[in-house]
Amino acid sequence: MSTAAVQHRVRAGARLGAGAAAPAAAIRIVGGGGWLDAGRPVSSSESISLADDAAIVEYVPGDLTLTARAGATLASISKATSAEGQWLALDPFGAPTGTLGATIATGSSGPLAHAFGTPRDTVLGLEVVTGAGEIVRTGGRVVKNVAGFDLTRLFTGAWGTLAVITEATVRLRARPERDETLAIALPAESEMDGWLARLRALPFSPLALEMVNATLATALGLDPRALLLARLGGNEHSVRAQHQLLGAFGDSSAAPTSVWSALAAIESAGAAVVRVSAPPSRLHALWARLAVGSDPTALAHATVGRGIVRCLRPSSSATPIAVWLDAISRTEGTHIFERLSASEWSRVPSRVIDPLSRAVRIAFDPAQILNRGILGDHA
Ligand SMILES: Cc1cc2nc3c(=O)[nH]c(=O)nc-3n(C[C@H](O)[C@H](O)[C@H](O)COP(=O)(O)OP(=O)(O)OC[C@H]3O[C@@H](n4cnc5c(N)ncnc54)[C@H](O)[C@@H]3O)c2cc1C
Repeated sequence: MSTAAVQHRVRAGARLGAGAAAPAAAIRIVGGGGWLDAGRPVSSSESISLADDAAIVEYVPGDLTLTARAGATLASISKATSAEGQWLALDPFGAPTGTLGATIATGSSGPLAHAFGTPRDTVLGLEVVTGAGEIVRTGGRVVKNVAGFDLTRLFTGAWGTLAVITEATVRLRARPERDETLAIALPAESEMDGWLARLRALPFSPLALEMVNATLATALGLDPRALLLARLGGNEHSVRAQHQLLGAFGDSSAAPTSVWSALAAIESAGAAVVRVSAPPSRLHALWARLAVGSDPTALAHATVGRGIVRCLRPSSSATPIAVWLDAISRTEGTHIFERLSASEWSRVPSRVIDPLSRAVRIAFDPAQILNRGILGDHA
């Protein structure tokens, strides 16, 4: 759907929402449609699909920038950029058929965030249609900018509650010549603090450092024990040196690079997913509570440099979800509930209960018609 068509639909909804009850005009934004059960249940009467507006608008390899319509898939961007030895260094969980617009809207990132950050570090500019029906361009490729505010970062990760993303300009990176992965056994509990501190102080930056619990290592076809997956990139000389430095961290063996796409796709349908974050220096405490936790069938992985542990409970688990959720909720840290069954959402606090978040929402989407309820702003 073109930007003008999106604007037309949103304006019609905003007019209706301002007059009658807003829910009658509520709009669900859809990209590839693969992750619509994440976030709180949305109430909507219609949807806007961006999937058919998928062109790469401009690719300038010399500038390491690419502009694409929101419906472009990560797979299509990967194909276009790898021909030039470049990549969009974002590896969100889910399938490569996920769209650029949805990845930015949900602020989705994966293990590569260890080296390259999240979409907020990668998106240079956006074109959006706000909930008030205004077309706004932010950041790079500026036509109309709103000076003084970093709206690119505001719209990134807002889960489509402020605006529909129609186009994005992203920063690319040079693909490393070598891309290798080592699986290293985690040390004994008593050594974890010092071991993690040494990892954080490495004199080079691995592409990714992700710990996986034994259940997840087994599901990935690796040794059935808790492991650190270290993704190393660079030229041959540099990768050899990185191997040597990591050799001091324990029992290690090579793992196939495909382990990263297997990890991205590991989440089973209907799994409950929660991530908990804390300062990286407190990762050991989080990991000790969450890696095994109350459910031996649950999968857990942690991004070392970001202090985030992500826990996945398969729907086939014998542990009642209330017990699992309760144990996770009692762990200190910031909790982001990614996916729960509709009946479980009442157990967890809303993400937009504070007055500032509400005011921002109303400034961009006065009738609150976009993805209504996804962050818990409405019951
Ligand atoms: C931590 C984490 C874990 C994830 N795990 C998985 C996973 O296991 N499997 C999986 O498939 N995906 C997962 N995702 C989502 C995934 O990484 C991508 O965001 C998603 O795959 C994009 O796919 P899609 O285009 O099908 O999105 P959709 O399902 O179409 O949309 C996803 C969300 O983004 C909103 N949205 C879509 N397009 C836009 C737009 N242009 N403007 C504004 N809002 C928009 C939608 O309203 C919806 O709420 C995860 C995301 C996070 C943050």
